[in-house]
Amino acid sequence: MARFCPLFSGSSGNCTYIGTAAGGILIDAGVSAKRIECALVEREIDPKSIAAVFVTHEHSDHISGLRVLVKRYGYKVYSSKGTMNALAENNVIAQGNHADVMTRKGVAAADLMITGFRTSHDSRESIGFRIQTGDGRILAVATDTGCMTDEVRSALRGCDLALIESNHDVQMLKNGGYPYFLKKRILCDTGHLSNDCCAAELPALAKSGTTRFVLGHLSRDNNMPEIAYKTSLSALSAAGFIENHDFILEVAPRTATRPVMVL
Ligand SMILES: [Zn+2]
Ligand SMILES: [Zn+2]
Repeated sequence: MARFCPLFSGSSGNCTYIGTAAGGILIDAGVSAKRIECALVEREIDPKSIAAVFVTHEHSDHISGLRVLVKRYGYKVYSSKGTMNALAENNVIAQGNHADVMTRKGVAAADLMITGFRTSHDSRESIGFRIQTGDGRILAVATDTGCMTDEVRSALRGCDLALIESNHDVQMLKNGGYPYFLKKRILCDTGHLSNDCCAAELPALAKSGTTRFVLGHLSRDNNMPEIAYKTSLSALSAAGFIENHDFILEVAPRTATRPVMVL
């Protein structure tokens, strides 16, 4: 059994809870420690039951609550070597007792086995995570990737649940008010994944056995939940998959409003 809840998702902050009866982990801690604590407690999850925080990369929408959480609860922190170096340089957390680099064979925490895979993003060494429970459930979290790579694809294949970035609608971004350099940054291969690029991946993933898709890290200014949802739904429907029969599709809310999902 796995418990899953995207507590916060989007450019304003990211934090996902994944747990079992033995405890849980967080993927990223990108809003204040106080808000993460409240979101956990509201869902009857004891913050003390969290074993570790797995960090995708050092951008503030993924780490802004990290230092306080670690200080308060003694959580272990895991990430890539590059991200760990960036966190140490910025005095967020120093590598040592509480922080460690992910090894190739993965890290065990709270009856979960967590492995990392490389994503394509303009940070030191961003990664996503594939998580397996003791009883064989598989979940994956892949956000902050400007393009789909074979490494990301294979990590998402055959999961019970995949949280995938569906960051922006390309037309909204192009027509919107962001400065040119920022538009270019978001659109490039090391920026963020568009609705179209996300949707294009889903039929093959559904074919591989992935049944639950959660679209995440939506841009507040260049996307709308309905557009992200419809773009992915159209791609899956066009490939012959039927919603709530072959797959479940939903959009991760920006702030903690969703109950925990059990799978
Ligand atoms: Zn980022
Ligand atoms: Zn981000």
